[in-house]
Amino acid sequence: MKYAARMFSLVICVVMVATMFSFAPGVFAAESGEEPAEYQISVIPSAGGTVSVDPETVTEETAAKGVKVIVTPDKGYGVSSIKINGEAPDTTVSGPVSSGSSFVWTIYPQEDTNVQAVFHKSNGYVFVMLDAGHYGNVNRSPVLKSYYESQMTWKLQNYLKQELEEYTNVVVDTTRSSQSKDMGVYERGTSSKGYDLFLSLHSNATSSKSTDYPLIITQKGNTKDALAVMLGQIIESVMDTRQDYQIWQRLNKDNKTEYYGVLRGSKSVGTKGMILEHSFHTNLTAAKWLSSNSNLKKMAEAEAAAIAVYYGLSKEGSSTIPLKKPSLRIYNTDYRTLTLKWGKSVGAQGYVIYRSRTKNGTYKRVKTVKSGSTLKFINRKLTCGTTYYYKIRAYRKFGGTTRYSNDSAVKAMKVRPAKPSVGIRSGKRKITVKWKKVTGATGYVVYRAKKKNGKYKKIRTLKRSARSYTNTGIKKGKRYYYKVRAYRKVKGKRIYSEYSRTINRKAK
Ligand SMILES: [Zn+2]
Repeated sequence: MKYAARMFSLVICVVMVATMFSFAPGVFAAESGEEPAEYQISVIPSAGGTVSVDPETVTEETAAKGVKVIVTPDKGYGVSSIKINGEAPDTTVSGPVSSGSSFVWTIYPQEDTNVQAVFHKSNGYVFVMLDAGHYGNVNRSPVLKSYYESQMTWKLQNYLKQELEEYTNVVVDTTRSSQSKDMGVYERGTSSKGYDLFLSLHSNATSSKSTDYPLIITQKGNTKDALAVMLGQIIESVMDTRQDYQIWQRLNKDNKTEYYGVLRGSKSVGTKGMILEHSFHTNLTAAKWLSSNSNLKKMAEAEAAAIAVYYGLSKEGSSTIPLKKPSLRIYNTDYRTLTLKWGKSVGAQGYVIYRSRTKNGTYKRVKTVKSGSTLKFINRKLTCGTTYYYKIRAYRKFGGTTRYSNDSAVKAMKVRPAKPSVGIRSGKRKITVKWKKVTGATGYVVYRAKKKNGKYKKIRTLKRSARSYTNTGIKKGKRYYYKVRAYRKVKGKRIYSEYSRTINRKAK
């Protein structure tokens, strides 16, 4: 049902219910007609923003078109929830977002009504993961052959990214890097790890050609979520759909887990996730509407504005969004190679790695990794026996400016031969220890103890070609413990690998 069908006769009073200050009730419409019903609209004030009723919309002549309620968070605040008579609004509410700083509700009161918005101090920044619902050319409209859902969602995703990036302090990434790439639904959801919001963009399909309404599918328990409500209203209003928007959740038979893979995935990594169905492409009007690039831009602009109001974003200033510093680990790979690995910094577009010969020395850039999801760098051609110090930082470009995270903690590693991988075998009064060739080793040293954690004594040094050592003359039934390390001679000095794992056997 759209507002034109909702008829009511009324006199509306606008009353500000304030705890700290009070207004005299103002009557905006004179009584006329026969016994008009009289509704009062009250605003319950709350900290962090303002809610006001547009008085021009509450005259008797204009009220039938809906009463406009304008929700404006203060700078640095976002909207947590919006309520009518204490409840999140149902579908008797609609209205577009008019700008990035206000959200405009249109309400149709049938009784005394109070409206309220609850605001929260915003982080000042938000990480958004956008997901084009499908890849390639899929989900063709049966009523408009030129329309493919996949094409629409890819365009809308890109417009929405562009519109959101008009705001400062927002990181927007997409699940796929190209439209031709397929990706599992669950994996798309989990790719939002560390992000605040995951939105999967779609148009719906059904057997009825007249079905025309936006559908928001939320994770379990979130059907009254203010952002879901806002986005539902916006899609309905911008597309001017024939039926009101709906908000659903859909669970598996266990009544716990999400039915949809993208929502299951996003939930598993703790991200608020939603599927936005931009009405139905089985409806000709909707399919035609969604085929227009300028309509999709308009949609993206309005959706971005709602996200901005919800999270308290603005277009002012420059981005100061903090990228988390990566956590660095270093592994010795061989006698001249170290491998660096680090944890993903959410929102990073790449990483810069710096190296020094001393902890507090000069760090020089050794590598720029130009991908936020590459989390490994192999540093080759190093000098055996030398200790190298590393740190790493993440970066992302905002507009034309590159912003960096703080530097990671410094991690150091001495380059040495890899530790040998060992095996053991026992024979008659003998035990044989074996190892695989260690690249760059000049020789190997075998150690032995009588207890696992006992004192290991060097029992033999072997040359580079040796792959085993047989310890003979051992008493039957006596157990021995062994470990091996490789070394490389550098300028007359032995640079040892780490000890292998310990291995043990009883002689037969
Ligand atoms: Zn879809």
